[in-house]
Amino acid sequence: MTVNLLGFNRSQFEHWCAERGQKPFRARQMLRWMHQRGVADFESMSDVSRDFRAQLAAGAVIAAPPVLKDTTAPDGTRKWLFDVGTGNAIESVYIPEGEADDEDGEGRRYRGTLCVSSQAGCALECAFCSTGRQGFNRNLGVAEIVGQLWHASRSLGADHGIERPITNVVMMGMGEPLANYDNVVAAMQLMLDDHAYGISRRRLTLSTSGVVPAMDRLREACPVALAVSLHAPNDALRDQLVPINRKYPIRVLLDACLRYIERAPRDFVTFEYVMLEGVNDSVAQARELVQAVKPVPCKINLIPFNPFPGSGFLRSGAAAITAFRDVLQQAGLTTTVRKTRGDTIDAACGQLAGRVLDKTRRTRRRLEEQRA
Ligand code: SAH
Ligand code: SF4
Repeated sequence: MTVNLLGFNRSQFEHWCAERGQKPFRARQMLRWMHQRGVADFESMSDVSRDFRAQLAAGAVIAAPPVLKDTTAPDGTRKWLFDVGTGNAIESVYIPEGEADDEDGEGRRYRGTLCVSSQAGCALECAFCSTGRQGFNRNLGVAEIVGQLWHASRSLGADHGIERPITNVVMMGMGEPLANYDNVVAAMQLMLDDHAYGISRRRLTLSTSGVVPAMDRLREACPVALAVSLHAPNDALRDQLVPINRKYPIRVLLDACLRYIERAPRDFVTFEYVMLEGVNDSVAQARELVQAVKPVPCKINLIPFNPFPGSGFLRSGAAAITAFRDVLQQAGLTTTVRKTRGDTIDAACGQLAGRVLDKTRRTRRRLEEQRA
């Protein structure tokens, strides 16, 4: 059976090498070839013994999922659509900020963020999310998760000659990363590994809609920076927008955030809050949010809703977003409004499924109601 080496974190790789009579340092050597230099063919790995190279060529590959589409928006945002088989596609988005040659200059420091997917589709059915509307297809394997970073790093390095094009990774693409816990953790271990991508725990962020038991596991196993999709100031509304709230309501979620912060690389949690016109964007709701998040050291990231066909929601107006932000800021909460990047290529948050096939029960119900 052919094995894809992108699917091994360091300890798994060392184990695999040991089974083939190889010393553990071989695994580290190979990780550097694959992930730091983006090499995919064993023949180029000049310091790996000829015998081992032959063994690798016979039974292993280094392969990201095939690319179906590669699009760059005028603002530099780039999106890759990967084929993960049986009609499923997933996406990764690269968002550059600042100037690549300005690392030590006076201007803005360069930062390249890659937004990585963890599942094809998502089972959690948040009302405003196009991935949720697709329904759940399957979990991505480690090679498919890491393969997104591997491919993006290689392509960006080759096209722009930037030595370290990706400085930050956010697990904020399609899917709920904590619902694919084992594979996501193994993939993140590679992202953090100095022999692979060497991204610091502060520069690796996982976003969750609030799978509380998995947040506790992550705190022990691989505490990276945490973003939590809050989106509502009370349970009645959050139950509607983020259905997993019915299982882990806000109080329980905030307690989990407090436990997480004890181990996190940053001393705060980022709460994401999508701005939906007339739904969760009033000044009264902003005040309620201030009270709700009080127990937790946090920053708030307001995300203007990115529309998609048939969503049934509208983006809050600029004035409403500013008024909402002002209430939070006046209460002492650090609040940012996310710039909408890449929306000309449908690469903005929540648009990642593209023009999707709508398979969820909720929408079927809605259609049935309309017909009745
Ligand atoms: N499943 C995880 C991570 C992926 S979604 C989570 O829910 O946190 C990443 C972020 O995009 C989440 O905060 C999500 O709520 C938000 N999002 C989803 N659909 C969106 C849309 N249409 N417009 C703006 N943000 C959206
Ligand atoms: Fe899944 Fe996140 Fe979309 Fe909710 S917002 S449906 S958890 S991907």
